Amino acid sequence: MSKQSEDFIEAMIRLGHPIISKERDAKFDVIVDGKIVTRLNSSLANRQKCTDEEIELIKGLHSIKYLNIQSAKNHLDNGVVLRALSKIDTQIEFALQRVWHFPLDQNFHRFWHFPGCTCPKMDNEDAYPHGYYTKAMDCPVHVEKS
Ligand SMILES: [Zn+2]
Repeated sequence: MSKQSEDFIEAMIRLGHPIISKERDAKFDVIVDGKIVTRLNSSLANRQKCTDEEIELIKGLHSIKYLNIQSAKNHLDNGVVLRALSKIDTQIEFALQRVWHFPLDQNFHRFWHFPGCTCPKMDNEDAYPHGYYTKAMDCPVHVEKS
């Protein structure tokens, strides 16, 4: 495996990305309105020695993150609202890092996934998680027009 894909997978493991999760355990399902919206990586939770209480907290944070993103999708034409919601998203990401016992590092936040963001996605994925990310001058989420 290339160094780049190892970095990528390591970064996704750090974020508890659901595609890395192999085994199925309902305890790790994040459910909003009766629908599974994401699934925590159970092996990562074990490796990070997350307690059951922390797992519940992480699931709660993912529910809030999901609802915040749904709200952003309903306000795609309102930059003020999008910027406010994206700041909440950043705080949720920091809270997740804290509960996962990871360093609080904004380089691990994929801000370009936020609804309405027009920042260059492929360039930023390539730079992930090292940083030096690019923002689009016309991004309504990440660039405030004067
Ligand atoms: Zn953006």
